[in-house]
Amino acid sequence: MSNVRKPMVAGNWKMNGSLALLHTFISELKASPLLDTVLCLPYPYLAAASKASFKVGAQDCSQFGAGAHTGDIAVGMLQELGATYVIVGHSERRQDHNESNIAVALKVQTVLNAGLTPILCVGEPLKVREAGNVNKFVFEQLQAVIDVCSKDFLEKCIIAYEPIWAIGTGKTASPEQAQEVHQFIRTEIVKWNHNAVSTRLLYGGSVNASNAHALFAKPDIDGGLIGGASLKIDDFIAICNAVK
Ligand code: PGA
Repeated sequence: MSNVRKPMVAGNWKMNGSLALLHTFISELKASPLLDTVLCLPYPYLAAASKASFKVGAQDCSQFGAGAHTGDIAVGMLQELGATYVIVGHSERRQDHNESNIAVALKVQTVLNAGLTPILCVGEPLKVREAGNVNKFVFEQLQAVIDVCSKDFLEKCIIAYEPIWAIGTGKTASPEQAQEVHQFIRTEIVKWNHNAVSTRLLYGGSVNASNAHALFAKPDIDGGLIGGASLKIDDFIAICNAVK
């Protein structure tokens, strides 16, 4: 963790949780000046979280501003409900909804144009890691967004490195493996845009209360994007405390 970038811990509830659980989080999870605490909720829960002391994000949005797109959600609607962050390009969306690098890039652009902050997810499947092509894979995911959004986006977004083999599997990347990729991402984004030295890079993939501290201690890991452990209030608070 660096002392120039404010740490961030973002929960990603995915398609989990309930209003009752949200109310527990609203009463027990307190924002701290030492970090940005964010919960990325399913759409129907966003309005109920608008009075929370933590920040709120969505898990996706349409690439379109508005219009005839049945079932989609426009970023302006998220903004009306108080969301300030939007996860874009999570591997579950890339896989389950065939989201291409280009579609992800267009969503990043839509989120930025609305003045919200995208949390852009990148990360490789196991086969790519085993073939030794992690950096190339992640580079191409970033390049696709830069092609659409220009290099300015790099200082306005948050990037989450989430190796697919570590998501929801209990197999966390070791702090060294995660730092290696974070350092690569940092080096590349700063080459593209010098101001990206202050861009926060989060690690995601089976982060829990026991491994968070060692991960967050690495110099290019500025916090985490937390799936399963963000559904348990005590675990999530412990992970938030691990950045301090
Ligand atoms: P996990 O999910 O913490 O349950 O591995 C992380 C994510 O998908 O963002």
